[in-house]
Amino acid sequence: MDTTAVVPPPHVLVFPLPAQGHVNSMLKLSELLCLSDIHVTFLVTVPTHGSLLAHTDVGSRFGEKFRLETLPDGIHQDDLHTLDGFMENLNTLESVGRPFLKEYLGGGHRRCPFWPPVSCVITDGALVSLAVDVAEEFKLPTIVFQTISVAAFWCYVCTPDLIQSGELPIKGNEMDLATKVKGMESFLRLGDLPSFCQLQNLETPIFRTLVKEKLQTTRARGVIFNTFEEPILSQVRTMCPNAYAIGPVHAHLKARLDANPPSSNSLRDEDRSCLSWLENQPEKSVIYVSFGSLAVVTREQLLEIWHGLVNSGQRFLWVHRQDLVAGENGGDWVPTELEEGLKARGYMVRWAPQEAVLEHPSVGGFFTHSGWNSTLESIVAGVPMICRPCLGDQNTNSRMVEAVWKIGMDMKGRCDRVTVEKMVRDVMEKRKDEFLQRAEEVAKLAGKAVGEGGSSCSNLRRLVDDIRSRALSPMRT
Ligand code: UDP
Repeated sequence: MDTTAVVPPPHVLVFPLPAQGHVNSMLKLSELLCLSDIHVTFLVTVPTHGSLLAHTDVGSRFGEKFRLETLPDGIHQDDLHTLDGFMENLNTLESVGRPFLKEYLGGGHRRCPFWPPVSCVITDGALVSLAVDVAEEFKLPTIVFQTISVAAFWCYVCTPDLIQSGELPIKGNEMDLATKVKGMESFLRLGDLPSFCQLQNLETPIFRTLVKEKLQTTRARGVIFNTFEEPILSQVRTMCPNAYAIGPVHAHLKARLDANPPSSNSLRDEDRSCLSWLENQPEKSVIYVSFGSLAVVTREQLLEIWHGLVNSGQRFLWVHRQDLVAGENGGDWVPTELEEGLKARGYMVRWAPQEAVLEHPSVGGFFTHSGWNSTLESIVAGVPMICRPCLGDQNTNSRMVEAVWKIGMDMKGRCDRVTVEKMVRDVMEKRKDEFLQRAEEVAKLAGKAVGEGGSSCSNLRRLVDDIRSRALSPMRT
């Protein structure tokens, strides 16, 4: 008689925050896992589920090994760019998500009778306690996916030391002072710390929660970073030895899919007319302007940026989201000279197919809010950046762009029309060759990492093997 127990195939439950950048990168990871023959259930809120079905082909493109699962109603996902809105999102994910996850992991088999039970949970880096608590109840391993940059992650982890040494809270005029974040002392200033670390009141719930969640990463069996091998990872590995740097995940997926370009994961309707507009522009002549899915600007800031772009005399493609301007719902009056400048050399859309835009030969620069996905997409496309960070890890990412990778300029703290014009001219004209050459070098490194034999490729293979063989022992601190 054969006594060998039949081990069911691996099945991963992926649990992202309901925001574009998180859903996008965690869906790319899911697609990579499906391509490695792993079953994936992707857990989303009701509105995110609706947006994915309306604007993408996730319902059909993954094949039989992928399912979307929805959380119950009641999860707050408005105003995620505000401290209160973000905290309310995390609170409702906890109150609605925890009982749901318990029920789901306890009876996953029942919910989908032909699928193997969940064998591993991959959670967003902001939901670690919730995921690990529940998964442990069912003796399941959890792996954390950090959607933010590894540099920002490390800053969060180091904040207890910074508080201890009196660096935090930051005092009025100390923004330019060097921090003592281990491994980043030579270039990181206090003003480059993630925005939540710059709050004056360190008792603010969102700051406490985010730091706690980052420190909780050690409770998981491993942590995935959407990056390729970079020096700061050696610091991170002192705390989380089982770190898988598998990024940039969008480039990794592209490399796996070969000739078939990956599909979009946009939660909004993409206006592809901008690609036709780009077709008619000279090579590397257009600066693409986008502030991601959440960041907002005041009307005054909007006009300063717009004046700066028009005064620079460069061509520009601008993503002007319906909800970009704080307190307004789209299209209000703008000065005639700006309308004319836009008509003469610009193009505006509500939402762009960003990866395709950045890879278009006519694009020569990216005026960005420095979200981590946008930063990686620009790196992979070899497009130099002008960084105007707004919140979260963007402050840290913009510093990395200017001071470490040297592939652009950090506009942090200044957003007047003169600065905008000067930086656009610098990146698109004066220092164009220098930035393009450097951006090309960094793009090559990213490409090499996700190619056969590259570091991200071997890390992904190790991750897949560990999930398959269930060889995920607890991380040691
Ligand atoms: N994005 C897009 N079209 C746009 C603007 C953004 O597809 O017009 C995508 C972009 O490619 C990226 C994501 O939205 O993958 C934004 O994520 P990021 O981390 O850069 O910023 P966030 O929106 O989280 O602030």
